[in-house]
Amino acid sequence: PRTGNRLPPWLKRPLPTGNGNNFTAHLIEDLRLETVCESAKCPNRPECWSRRTATFMIMGNLCTRTCSFCSVPKGTPEHLELDEPARLAEASVRLGLKHVVITSVTRDDLPDGGAMHFADCIEAVRARVPDAALEVLTPDFLGDPVAIDTVTDANPEVFNHNLETVPRLHRTVRGRALYHRSLGLLERVKRRAPHIVTKAGLMLGIGETIDELFDVLADLRAIKCDVLTLGQYLAPTVKHMPVARFVPPSEFDSLAATARLMGFKQVVAGPYVRSSYHAADMVPTREGI
Ligand code: SF4
Ligand code: SF4
Repeated sequence: PRTGNRLPPWLKRPLPTGNGNNFTAHLIEDLRLETVCESAKCPNRPECWSRRTATFMIMGNLCTRTCSFCSVPKGTPEHLELDEPARLAEASVRLGLKHVVITSVTRDDLPDGGAMHFADCIEAVRARVPDAALEVLTPDFLGDPVAIDTVTDANPEVFNHNLETVPRLHRTVRGRALYHRSLGLLERVKRRAPHIVTKAGLMLGIGETIDELFDVLADLRAIKCDVLTLGQYLAPTVKHMPVARFVPPSEFDSLAATARLMGFKQVVAGPYVRSSYHAADMVPTREGI
């Protein structure tokens, strides 16, 4: 990823060894699945794929939105593939996943934003790997309550929706997304299904202030959000929004400590943290919610 500056030492890592990466890559190609790992040029891909984990991206590889930080290709998407839920379930079986993370492009072109397709994917994976936990990382569905309830009622273990940044920077960073609409989504999920773990993530180093960040964390706690992820923004290419600041690991540690004091059940914060990074390790049990 481009950074606009030289990478600080804490962002340099050795490549993992072993053949897990090839196994995962072939399987994804074989089953014609998309992953956000590839489409978003995630810097953790060698590590996650070597561990035989990936985050599936459903409903195609073209997004109807144009967020300035994101390298997922933009354009007019095609028809939904009705066999995608079955292929996703097959991949979950072959990878031996105990925790399946499903995300998607934003499909503002579909009447329900793809909510029913999300529910179909949850159901298909559940049928093949009943012991696996299911985590969805959804778009905002334009705030449509019926769409949000459709996914909630499919009963994933974790409902994740990223705020990405503070309200002041929303328009430049997230395009059509609205801060309070995203908060409202997480609030609605928690009210309808208090047993579902809710989770939100932000990227740091975009230009946010610490005070603005803590206001967001307070807003998230006010709607009983359970899990928080904080990571460093890294520009995927020179055409994307540049990095404003590299946040040192020690600062991530102290932010995480404060967030835990604010009541989040789990906080994962660090330069390479993404909302699906080590997702299987960061989920509190439902009993703890
Ligand atoms: Fe994929 Fe998430 Fe790992 Fe990145 S952190 S490679 S998106 S599973
Ligand atoms: Fe990327 Fe999601 Fe924005 Fe689409 S809506 S451009 S996938 S961040």
